[in-house]
Amino acid sequence: MAKRQFKAESKRLMDLMIHSIYTNREIFLREIISNASDAIDKLAYKALTDDKVGLNREDFKITVVIDKERRTITVSDNGIGMTKDELADNLGVIAKSGSMDFKSVLDEAAEVDIIGQFGVGFYSAFMVAEKVMVLSLAYGEDTAHQWVSTGADGYTITLSEKATVGTDIVIQLRPDTEGEDYSAYLESHTLRRMIKKYSDYIRYPIELDGETVNSMVPIWQRPKSEASDEDCFAFYREKFFDMEDPVSVQRISAEGTGVSYRAMLFYPAQVPYNYFTKEYQAGLALYSAGVLIMEHCDALLPEHFRFVRGVVDSADLSLNISRETLQQDRQVKTIAASLEKKIKSELARLKDKEPEQYQTLYESFGIQLKYGIVQNFGAKKDLLSDLLLFYSAKQEKLISLQGYVTNMGADQQYIYYACGENKAKIAARPQLEQVLDAGFDVLYMTDEVDEFVVSMLASYMEKEFRSVYDDNLGIESQEQQKETEKLQEAEKPLLDFISEALGDKIAAVKLSHKLKSHPVCLGTQGGISLEMEKYFANLSKQQGGEPVRAERVLELNPDHPAFRRLQATFETDPEKCKKYASLLYYQALLMADLPVENLPEYVELTWELL
Ligand code: ADP
Repeated sequence: MAKRQFKAESKRLMDLMIHSIYTNREIFLREIISNASDAIDKLAYKALTDDKVGLNREDFKITVVIDKERRTITVSDNGIGMTKDELADNLGVIAKSGSMDFKSVLDEAAEVDIIGQFGVGFYSAFMVAEKVMVLSLAYGEDTAHQWVSTGADGYTITLSEKATVGTDIVIQLRPDTEGEDYSAYLESHTLRRMIKKYSDYIRYPIELDGETVNSMVPIWQRPKSEASDEDCFAFYREKFFDMEDPVSVQRISAEGTGVSYRAMLFYPAQVPYNYFTKEYQAGLALYSAGVLIMEHCDALLPEHFRFVRGVVDSADLSLNISRETLQQDRQVKTIAASLEKKIKSELARLKDKEPEQYQTLYESFGIQLKYGIVQNFGAKKDLLSDLLLFYSAKQEKLISLQGYVTNMGADQQYIYYACGENKAKIAARPQLEQVLDAGFDVLYMTDEVDEFVVSMLASYMEKEFRSVYDDNLGIESQEQQKETEKLQEAEKPLLDFISEALGDKIAAVKLSHKLKSHPVCLGTQGGISLEMEKYFANLSKQQGGEPVRAERVLELNPDHPAFRRLQATFETDPEKCKKYASLLYYQALLMADLPVENLPEYVELTWELL
């Protein structure tokens, strides 16, 4: 029979696996047992609603048998089994569960801990096996099939016989070499230790020599004294294919009103590579009385906390609940509401008690919290606003809104913020100076969504937000304002002249005392800010539609030499005055990080006036 070939990347990975000097070969058993447990989960779930399965929760088990003569270890399960097609599909493509883009990984990281990182699962058997046989009878099928492979050169699938539904994985060990004692895996005590170490929490009995080896208590059901944070992190890394430890594990045991449940939640440090794609499956694994109901129950997690991962286990859920009606289930809703509160309080705890950890998490998922504030007309803004962090110009680090407000002096009216593409660009904006000089802190907002967040919040702890680009910053005294108005009146002919010269580029020209060392800046009037204009410009580039334009106000610094130049040329050489005005306008655009509309003209003007 012709050998079938593994798919291309599978071959390379297989090769790596076989020849790797992987230090932790013994985890192959954990991978095989974990697959067996998953297969049992599937049939156990079916058994809840389908009498034909004919098995009860107690009937399920995993058996490990050693044959010293044949040098084999056989792991058997009475789970769902695989059809001929499934054998080819599931075992013909390495790492089908696809937690990573293998191509890129294979190039750079030949010696990395591939197995540990990606849970390539089944294939790890080839670290110790010269040959692997998989004999399987799928639930609902009459005929069994056998899959056989000796590694990289492909596999065969043949018709075979098996009396009961389930799968036997037969691992034929390699001969011992000088460096590696494969025969050790033929010793009961070795396998017993490996099962205890890696598979103790598997919820079905794992029998070896007629005895159950594992304690079967899942990690989330154990008291803290029997499951250290380290243990939980290891569980997390394996279950969620993350190389990095989460920033925190939260154990929840909720009793009473409505439903009782236990949960173990993890707060990841880094963004999963597919987090912002449709591929990412949010939700928590939902168990009921030890049966896995759903791997990713998204009804348990609100959108704004979708980065949280973990497990929920409740004996109170009705067992014959179908996955389709789960979303509507009253008890699931009760658990979800309770979890939302617990998650909020854990995040708040991290923020206050473990700020560094929180910052790591926030840098990864802060944007998700921000979207949460904007969505649904701000329905969750009170829940989420305490969790926000923004960069403080004064303290030069991320701070919370509460941190900002508690540092405000009695003379400060507003929470000042400045939007822009990045910190450096914001720091260069002329409008910042006045606020900082007055001794007030400014929050830098560099995410596109920030401006929407601020307008949704409107205020925090009864302090209104105010953009430093805003006209009225509440800093100038009434006297100063009066003085500016007077000056404005006196210079009206010049300002009108400039306004006319610039035409519809701007909506107004005015004098402003908020500019300290800068000659000019661009402000706005009306509801649309320059940052919103930029946001919509990007959006219309991507999705079409009309860009929105802010009403620009050219603000001139009357104390600056540039203004005096305008005054002088207005009298003597109006044509030149126009050119100065244009130049100042272009500079204001640049300082506001906006594109210069007519670059050749700008360059020409600069040369001419130089
Ligand atoms: P993963 O478990 O991460 O999906 P594996 O390579 O370990 O990746 O397994 C690939 C697939 O093969 C599994 O998803 C499952 O569908 C199938 N499989 C493996 N072992 C068994 C088993 N004992 N019973 C039924 N299906 C299995």
